[in-house]
Amino acid sequence: MPNSDASFDSIIVGAGFAGLYALHRLRGLGQSVRAFETGSGVGGTWYWNRYPGARCDVESMQYSYQFSDELAQEWSWTERYAAQPEILRYANHVADRFDLKKDIQFNTKITSAHYDETTGLWTVTTEGGERFTARYLIMATGCLSATNFPAIKGRESFAGATYHTSRWPHEGVNFTGKRVGIIGTGSSAVQSIPLIAREAKHLFVFQRTPTYSIPAHNKPLDPEEEQRIKSDYRGFRARIAQLAFDVDGEFSDTLTLSVNEAERRRVYDARWSYGRLSWLGAFGDLITDFKANETGQQYIRNKINEIVKDPQVAEALMPNHAVGTKRLCIDTGYYETFNRPNVTLVDLRRTPIDEIVTEGVRTSDRLYELDALIFATGFDAMTGALNRIDIRGVKGRALKDAWAAGPKTYLGVATAGFPNLFMIAAGPGSPGVLSNMIPSIEQHVNFITQIMAHMAERQLSRIEATEEAQETWVQHVNEVAAPTLFPSTNSWYVGANIPGKPRIFMPYIGGYPVYVEKCKDVASKNYEGFALSGSNRQV
Ligand code: NAP
Repeated sequence: MPNSDASFDSIIVGAGFAGLYALHRLRGLGQSVRAFETGSGVGGTWYWNRYPGARCDVESMQYSYQFSDELAQEWSWTERYAAQPEILRYANHVADRFDLKKDIQFNTKITSAHYDETTGLWTVTTEGGERFTARYLIMATGCLSATNFPAIKGRESFAGATYHTSRWPHEGVNFTGKRVGIIGTGSSAVQSIPLIAREAKHLFVFQRTPTYSIPAHNKPLDPEEEQRIKSDYRGFRARIAQLAFDVDGEFSDTLTLSVNEAERRRVYDARWSYGRLSWLGAFGDLITDFKANETGQQYIRNKINEIVKDPQVAEALMPNHAVGTKRLCIDTGYYETFNRPNVTLVDLRRTPIDEIVTEGVRTSDRLYELDALIFATGFDAMTGALNRIDIRGVKGRALKDAWAAGPKTYLGVATAGFPNLFMIAAGPGSPGVLSNMIPSIEQHVNFITQIMAHMAERQLSRIEATEEAQETWVQHVNEVAAPTLFPSTNSWYVGANIPGKPRIFMPYIGGYPVYVEKCKDVASKNYEGFALSGSNRQV
């Protein structure tokens, strides 16, 4: 590695899919670039989240880069929904194939990033005290990467082994013969519970909010299907990019209540049998009309009732929030797992956790003695990874302070007062988490690469979102979210899982194609909404 106190054209924080592609593209511009990664390897989410059953719920033929035809053709996925080890292998394959690792400094956590108005440079500091400067700062820190450990009384006092799904030991964990507790029933828990239950002596699932989940129907990828898709891979991805979330599926315009109950059931059944997140596209108004949504809720509650044998357990597993307003899960045997004799559902709505003690978890009615305790308690989403770094922009203003009343961005990619700082597909106001993440990443990276090329051609050195454009964008983000049911539910989308976090629906739900067109429009108007200035001094 080069010496510390080095200067670069760009510094990238994070070496997940966003950081890798940003590194590739910025090197292609002829820039000097250094990426910093806390982990010892590439892959981001797929490096950290190694819990049993971790798997992507976007189908593997769509969850990959598109920037290289050769890459797209040569890589073969083995399953319909790829599991974490395979996705991590893919990330490593990409990093090796494009020789990216030599510009990544691993095992290095960035603790601060300060902008100097005099030099127009960002200075980043590592946990080890090294300092580096760069003209551009690319935050490829992920949308779901800042681990959330809830402040449950006595959390540190448990004497057994403690795990968090998003920081799973690389060597794996053997739960054989163990009494295991898991707190949380979101996507990570839904994937891991069936597998942990098969191994543990007994699994206690501590559930605060029940979850809607539909079966994934995962299976080996059919080689013929793979070849069919690869024979027109660009066409396949281009077609999907026109869909609302850039994820394949049918999105019906039919209004839920315009058809009779038998027809609704037929439609829901067909989608249940197929297994895709686009189950939510069954009707055009499912996520905007509560009465319509109620039919979807009831459908899944009926399914839970059919699957789970003990009526009391089935009842406790039934959610009552609007389906889809917390991330819909897709699973392999989740509800079925509660039929196992070695699995106990602890309904925290009836008996909340009082405290964690040396022996296990104490709820309002009893002590659950445990050998291991798993936190499947999610993330401080979207803003968490950024706010955990001391980021200071113009006049030393902290990003945390600028966003104290809620995050504000322009297009989710930049924020006023923080020149030359870009966020990749994870920023509030970007469609990232509601879309297929890898294409969203490529779109953002392509957008900022074009900005940088534009600036280089014109000898410009500073770009900043204007307050006015930012306000207009934030207003638009809120306007498109308002008619949906999303803001009505306590979810990480609105920051409700983190005490004290401003309640704002963070992602952009206006649709991926609309967003892409907006970015193209901004670019065609010389980056309207950004203030560009300065002379291009040598870094
Ligand atoms: P999550 O969806 O935020 O779920 C966290 C769970 O922990 C919730 O059930 C939550 O209950 C519970 N919890 C939090 N604090 C608690 C407390 N103090 N006491 C009791 N329960 C508590 O987190 P996640 O499952 O890690 O998933 C986060 C996101 O990552 C997903 O929505 C998805 O976008 C992504 N993800 C995707 C995949 C995939 O591709 N298949 C897999 C995993 C994750 P409440 O609901 O009551 O707050």
